[in-house]
Amino acid sequence: MKDFTNAEPKPIGRFAPSPSGKMHLGNIYTALAAWLCAKSRNGKFLLRIEDLDPMRCPRAFADQIISDLEWLGLAWDNPEIPCQSERTAIYETYFRQLTDKQLVYPCFCSRAQLHVADAPHASDGRVVYAGTCRYLTQEEILQKRRQRHPAARLILPDSKVQFTDGHYGPQTFNLARDWGDIIIRRSDGVFAYQLAVTIDDGLMGVTQVVRGCDLLSSSAPQLYLFRTLGFTAPQFLHLPLLITQDGARLAKREKAVDVGFLRQQFASPEPLIGYLAWLLGQLPKPEPVKAADLLPLFDAKKIPGNDIVIPGNYWETLK
Ligand code: GLU
Repeated sequence: MKDFTNAEPKPIGRFAPSPSGKMHLGNIYTALAAWLCAKSRNGKFLLRIEDLDPMRCPRAFADQIISDLEWLGLAWDNPEIPCQSERTAIYETYFRQLTDKQLVYPCFCSRAQLHVADAPHASDGRVVYAGTCRYLTQEEILQKRRQRHPAARLILPDSKVQFTDGHYGPQTFNLARDWGDIIIRRSDGVFAYQLAVTIDDGLMGVTQVVRGCDLLSSSAPQLYLFRTLGFTAPQFLHLPLLITQDGARLAKREKAVDVGFLRQQFASPEPLIGYLAWLLGQLPKPEPVKAADLLPLFDAKKIPGNDIVIPGNYWETLK
């Protein structure tokens, strides 16, 4: 895989929001960075709606995201916006490839069982699955199926995944130790993020993934899946997160970071775009600017190294 900074011209980037709520400042910061990374190299920018769980992702939120991106001037190049909730048959096909290769097994563990399992924890607090259901016999599986509908787990081998992140540099993960076998389809039949995101990026021809660094370690199982499913893997660039003065992640419920609220405060998106571009290290001060005017200036190497603190009253200073 190539180093991000030596990426080929005309990359295909994407923004893939989950409409489980309205957009907040962190989402539009990611969208702007992804848009600039792709468009500043004459590439394409694709939009995809990650509404895998239809119960948590009402259509109204997706429509709101689309309207907010239009308002911000972050145009996308795909005429049809794929929604994951409508792509189940596609995921099913690739899921079959994995089951045919005997890389998947049914898992009957309940949430409660998973939490008491004596599994080690990954560095970010995730519970690594202890492998309880991996070696069930056919009889045990048949018997358990009578009581419970299983989830499906993908076997992740005890092997290293290495890649160079466009922002955080060389990365090494061990799939078994850092992830353990992951759920790729829930017991209610909904396909899981790691599988769907890989298939979608692969089928959409995405060559450049720009997203928050909370997903940095997810690149490891995704790279494994790209390879196993026969897709060319994209390059990754993970962004420092926006955090509050207390060091917490920005929460969607905070009014000051809600894009709907911000749209009421500003007649045009330019003060906000300028603020986000300044946070991304692209402007010396937060001054109003159109997204398109940033394209000739954009340099991914200027993105700051650490998480970025957002003062509670930041939006008042932009008026
Ligand atoms: N849908 C994910 C989110 O909104 C992003 C997935 C990705 O960029 O890979 O957090």
